[in-house]
Amino acid sequence: MKTLNAEDRNFLLNSIRTVEDFPKPGIGFKDITTLLGNEKAYALLMDHLKDRYKGQNIDYIAGIESRGFIFGASLATMLGVKFVPIRKPGKLPYTTISEKYSLEYGVDEVEIHIDAFKCDKEKPKVLLIDDLIATGGTAKAAVTLINKAGAECVEACFVINLKFLNGDKDIKKITPVYSVLEIE
Ligand code: AMP
Repeated sequence: MKTLNAEDRNFLLNSIRTVEDFPKPGIGFKDITTLLGNEKAYALLMDHLKDRYKGQNIDYIAGIESRGFIFGASLATMLGVKFVPIRKPGKLPYTTISEKYSLEYGVDEVEIHIDAFKCDKEKPKVLLIDDLIATGGTAKAAVTLINKAGAECVEACFVINLKFLNGDKDIKKITPVYSVLEIE
């Protein structure tokens, strides 16, 4: 499957703003609103993802709330496949299944509709997408949810991987991981 060349990777990296000490001191927040506000960067990213995943027999794209919705829903419509939201607790109106994961302090949770992957296939193929992987807790819980809901997560895709946090290591044990941009 296709990856991006170094020049395009640099162009995309430069389109993302880092906001220091947000949401708390010590965090360098990767602000993708500047990528979305740059029509060449957004189109380059989406065309690349379309190129990578077309012809891969993907049935659904699942996006993680909330920035995963932006890239996931755009890609789903470009590929002509279905989109499923994975949300924070209490947001989805119908019956849900949920998965807890650990944070530095405490726990968090993600939810999916119980019938999210109901279609004529026995085990539909799902691509998971989010804007960024940090510690990997959110994405790992999302992959587990997809599989619990009766589908198969065929890859977890991130626009940005904060490689120094090693968040992808654990997820690679349960599904392949692709990151468009890696920050060492
Ligand atoms: P994690 O579960 O630690 O991998 O965190 C991933 C989620 O938190 C993603 O949905 C990201 O959007 C968000 N996130 C974590 N760290 C950052 C960061 N430095 N910049 C932007 N978003 C972040």
